[in-house]
Amino acid sequence: MDTQKTPITCPQCSRSASMKVPLKVNTRRDRGARDGILSGSLFAFFCDGCGYSAEVLPRGFLYQDPALRLMVYLSPSGDPATHNIQLPTSFGDYRLRVVSDRVRLVEQILIRESGFEDRHVMLFKAQVKSTVDHGQVSAPASMVFAGLLGEASEVALSLPDGTIVALPKAHLDATIAAYPLQSEIPLTWMRIDSAWAEVRLAERAPARSGTWWSRE
Ligand SMILES: [Zn+2]
Repeated sequence: MDTQKTPITCPQCSRSASMKVPLKVNTRRDRGARDGILSGSLFAFFCDGCGYSAEVLPRGFLYQDPALRLMVYLSPSGDPATHNIQLPTSFGDYRLRVVSDRVRLVEQILIRESGFEDRHVMLFKAQVKSTVDHGQVSAPASMVFAGLLGEASEVALSLPDGTIVALPKAHLDATIAAYPLQSEIPLTWMRIDSAWAEVRLAERAPARSGTWWSRE
């Protein structure tokens, strides 16, 4: 694991400390990295003085899972220039994604582990938004794919308050059937999120008649 020793002043008690902030992990070598990202412990800062804890993210973090052929670049700043990492052609079968926070990184890992296309999951979440939105879910961005439940018959979506919404997997299957995807361009980093899905859904919205007005 590549890390960067980073000085940190505790915002609560002003004690000086340092933390080895992870910059790059490869799950083949860094066995605990995946679980540390899911639990948050990989980026956790604990103050020995007062017990204050916080999440410390580097400006850029690269997650590589050779078994899943998944590489995710976490860039809190969302700076597109920083993720323009050129990869050799041997990475042509990798899914390359850019995310802006740890939760989205976790989601990408869980989607890949569950065998889904993240594009389908984002489209599904955008569709679900309208059916479960009782003021509880303000935007599809706040729902995160959390795996499959009930012997894979349900899709779990987690909400910011920790609530899990379980929906029939048949609904996700319907989205998959309704939205055939083009194959990705190899070696291309993509940001697949709720904004991406909203654009795709809008493109497919039922066309309204545009013939009300005569142009003659
Ligand atoms: Zn402290």
